[in-house]
Amino acid sequence: MVDRTWAYHLVSPSTFKKTEVTIPEELKTAEVEVELLAAGICGTDIHNFKHGPGSEGAPPGFSIHECVGTVRRDPQKELEGQLVLAIPKEYSGLKGKYVADRDHCYGLSRHWLREHDQLAIATLVQPLATVLFALDRCGDLQGKTVVSVGIGPIGLLFGLVARVRGARRVVGIDPRLITRNVEAFGFDEIVEEESAVQASSFDLCIEAVGGQDATLVTALKLCCPDGRVLAFGVPSDTYYQVPFMEIFRKRLTLITSVAPEWSRYLPIAEAFIRLHCEAASAIVSHIFSIDRTQEAFDLVASSTPERRKVVLVT
Ligand SMILES: [Zn+2]
Repeated sequence: MVDRTWAYHLVSPSTFKKTEVTIPEELKTAEVEVELLAAGICGTDIHNFKHGPGSEGAPPGFSIHECVGTVRRDPQKELEGQLVLAIPKEYSGLKGKYVADRDHCYGLSRHWLREHDQLAIATLVQPLATVLFALDRCGDLQGKTVVSVGIGPIGLLFGLVARVRGARRVVGIDPRLITRNVEAFGFDEIVEEESAVQASSFDLCIEAVGGQDATLVTALKLCCPDGRVLAFGVPSDTYYQVPFMEIFRKRLTLITSVAPEWSRYLPIAEAFIRLHCEAASAIVSHIFSIDRTQEAFDLVASSTPERRKVVLVT
């Protein structure tokens, strides 16, 4: 008998349709099948959502990638029944059951199963892994001044980790109000625009928006001489126009960071979240049942104040 499952299908820009798909009968030895339990909506997913399926169409389940679930099938048997953080193939995790590569799959502690909302917090292990990897590339933060240009859930995670690693001053810049309780996330302050902080005054400037070059330019301007700029947000173009004279005169170091070694960073991220559980759980501001997928994406695409990480649960 052919097994089927529900899926959300991006049929036009910003529009999902619920549908049913067939589950592949055969898995490759390096793959596992995961039953979805919780999924966080990321900026990249919102970019894909707004952009729409394109002329070739989007695979059902696209776009979600911060997924927690239970392994239902494992050709090598050892992961079956295990609670995992598993990044779906083609970012197509908005399905009852999805396929993930084994090396993008990490066995979570069963601790997360204690309460229902805990699974939503466990989805943060994936984005946090990318943040920890990125900051490992930026040197010692002890006593340093750090600014994040863009304060979404990723910016909040940057603030939290920078504070834990001993940064002296942690500032965020975002026109949208994300929280009134900035200290809970490790920030000294979050301001609405760059003019509220001094130019050339931060040791580490993080670009945490992506998709355009203006926020990268802001990060470069705020960086002090001999400072570092972390370009974290995913770029939208092959070429960006940046103030090269400023980079040159201030002897700046531009650091990029993408695709961590998952097998190394997912366990470190899980341990960090368990240690800083209160702050991590405050990053999740909304939990929606999967039936409200459209509503949840619409919310993340809007500029609603105090919306932080939005998570879907099945
Ligand atoms: Zn993401």
